[in-house]
Amino acid sequence: MIEFHQVTKIFESNGNKVEALKNINLTIDKGDIFGVIGFSGAGKSTLIRTVNLLEYPSAGEVLVKGKNLTELSKYEIREAKKDIGMIFQHFNLIKSKTVFHNVAMPLLLSGYNKKSVEEKVFEILRFVGLEEKAKNYPDQLSGGQKQRVGIARALITNPSILLCDEATSALDPETTKSILKLLKRINKEYNITILIITHEMEVIKEICNRIAVMEDGQIIETGKVFDVFANP
Ligand code: ADP
Ligand code: ADP
Repeated sequence: MIEFHQVTKIFESNGNKVEALKNINLTIDKGDIFGVIGFSGAGKSTLIRTVNLLEYPSAGEVLVKGKNLTELSKYEIREAKKDIGMIFQHFNLIKSKTVFHNVAMPLLLSGYNKKSVEEKVFEILRFVGLEEKAKNYPDQLSGGQKQRVGIARALITNPSILLCDEATSALDPETTKSILKLLKRINKEYNITILIITHEMEVIKEICNRIAVMEDGQIIETGKVFDVFANP
């Protein structure tokens, strides 16, 4: 579903070079809930952001369903990105827009008709349990509710991949549990492949079937959760 082949990413700022990714090789299969864990600065964010071209690799390639997105036309990239939803640590909602409009945004941008957008938005809001908040603004919601809005927005284009960038790191343990439960349902009921990056061991243990451990721009271990953490 997602393949990293010898992916390297070098950031240059003020003459300093940071090698955020060093020759990454990794395969994420369809149906996986795949977790990448590591300390701050390990390169996790950079890694996940190469999947939907928020970052471009300096070398190597990232394939999504066998395609290297950097080789597609602008139109094809836009279509490919609709197939990849993303949620963020700080939710990245638009404060001046209602829940309804935040969720509808990806569809409105690609010119769907109003009626079908409305039906789709309410269907997804029902799924994440926020139907009655459609008219509220982000500041009127709890952290968990904001992340549910983020999830609804990510699902509105019917993606087959969901990228989660520290999606529960700003939430308390109880709320984290409920969001993880929702991610599990998304994986099962919508058959969406999920890639999670986190520094939280509990998240990984709770829902991932396979994991990779990152350190200093490299993958130092991959496997099933049980096997990786069973090692002394
Ligand atoms: P993590 O998500 O594991 O905390 P990141 O991928 O954010 O790690 O960062 C990996 C390394 O790359 C860090 O040293 C970070 O400072 C650096 N880095 C990330 N993004 C940039 C950028 N846009 N410009 C320069 N350095 C960056
Ligand atoms: P988060 O962990 O919430 O995703 P970060 O603080 O890691 O946010 O990064 C926020 C943004 O800053 C990202 O776009 C990242 O690429 C960029 N960034 C991270 N580290 C650096 C750095 N050392 N220099 C420049 N930009 C950076």
